[in-house]
Amino acid sequence: MTSSDRPPYPYEAPVSAGLFDRGRGITPGGVNSPVRAFRAVGGTPRFMVEGSGPWLTDADGRRYVDLVSSWGPMILGHAHPAVVEAVATAARRGLSFGAPTEGELDLAEEIRRRVAPVERVRLVNSGTEAVLSAVRLARGVTGRPLLVKFAGCYHGHVDALLAAAGSGVATLGLPDTPGVTTGAAADTIVLPYNDVAAVEAVFAERGAQIAAVISEAAPGNMGVVPPLDGFNAQLRRITAEHGALLVLDEVMTGFRVSPSGWYGLDPVDADLFTFGKVMGGGLPAAAFGGRADLMEHLAPSGPVYQAGTLSGNPVAVAAGLATLRQCTDEVYARCDEASAVLRGAASAALFAAGVPHRVQQAGSMFSIFFVPDERQVRDFDDARTQDVARYTAFFHALLARGVYLPPSAFESWFVNAALSGPALDLVLEALPAAARAAAEVETHRTGALESERSS
Ligand SMILES: *Cc1c(COP(=O)(O)O)cnc(C)c1O
Repeated sequence: MTSSDRPPYPYEAPVSAGLFDRGRGITPGGVNSPVRAFRAVGGTPRFMVEGSGPWLTDADGRRYVDLVSSWGPMILGHAHPAVVEAVATAARRGLSFGAPTEGELDLAEEIRRRVAPVERVRLVNSGTEAVLSAVRLARGVTGRPLLVKFAGCYHGHVDALLAAAGSGVATLGLPDTPGVTTGAAADTIVLPYNDVAAVEAVFAERGAQIAAVISEAAPGNMGVVPPLDGFNAQLRRITAEHGALLVLDEVMTGFRVSPSGWYGLDPVDADLFTFGKVMGGGLPAAAFGGRADLMEHLAPSGPVYQAGTLSGNPVAVAAGLATLRQCTDEVYARCDEASAVLRGAASAALFAAGVPHRVQQAGSMFSIFFVPDERQVRDFDDARTQDVARYTAFFHALLARGVYLPPSAFESWFVNAALSGPALDLVLEALPAAARAAAEVETHRTGALESERSS
């Protein structure tokens, strides 16, 4: 089909368009999480009705190879039989008890088994909640107010961490986040990513007031911008020297880029880790954990309060546990392989079409930056030099050919272990035409983000 270069799907998607109209009348922007609205790429967000293995089917009955994987969690592919069975079995026993269950212990122990510095685990419902709880704990333990975060890192929609955030904040190009008090903002110091000297400087000046440095273990929310060699280790050293805590956010990388997440590839012993996405297997489950002496400050052991009606929900826990138990070395090897094939093919197609670009990866997570100078993207400022108009053209050419990419240039692509055979072939066949579409775009260079946003 793609060899004749005639895309199978038109730009319009009437059934999704009707649902999106209805959605805008009931929920702001028609969606329950901003990037889903396709604002950055234009067009109609696809309402999905079904997923199976590497495939998604939308409301217009079109099939796509899914390179979003629900932003990470669906590492096994959609509707994996073992996960669905575990969920069904748990659901038949009851949906929620508001009392402890054994499954919670199994999931927490599975996390501890995989990530050595994690001695105690607390389960929560979302990555946002994991981060806000870890931050409260860090402040509670140290008695200090300040937090250091890095521009372009996203840690959920926590007040104190929305400054210069990645993901949807970057996608929409929001300059500021109304609703966050100046107090919350003032307690957050934002530094450029991968800049050890900037961290040293801020600690030299205000070290005694800093409760914690929080960083994505390997950032994937400004596109994929991995830490330079030794960056996380430097954060460990500097925080330790000043009695501050290091919080590594592995909500995205955890149990995705290796059996032990980024920790498995770059073993830096943070004080606290946050997890989500893969560990919930597609249902709302997340966690934070770390050193026992810190975690024991949490209620009811200690005075730092944290709680949740549905925390450790038995059905979500069953999905997460079944997923992690299926996440064998072979699953990670298959993800790495699919990712390598796609990275190579995408880059070759773009090179053949004469499109300047740079492919960056963190394990099997990767993204393509349409940066005019093809230089390594090391921080958020670098990421913002990408030509998002090229990404938009590339995105729509692939969507029309049955490939579902993240609807934003500031997001990672996520493969899953089911991505092989005909599904992978379909993507490979679609890439040359998508690269040519990207080549045809007049470059906007810097400032492209702003113009895209208003379109
Ligand atoms: C997705 C993400 C979060 C937020 O998780 P939610 O479940 O969406 O609240 C936090 N940190 C990182 C690194 C993430 O990728």
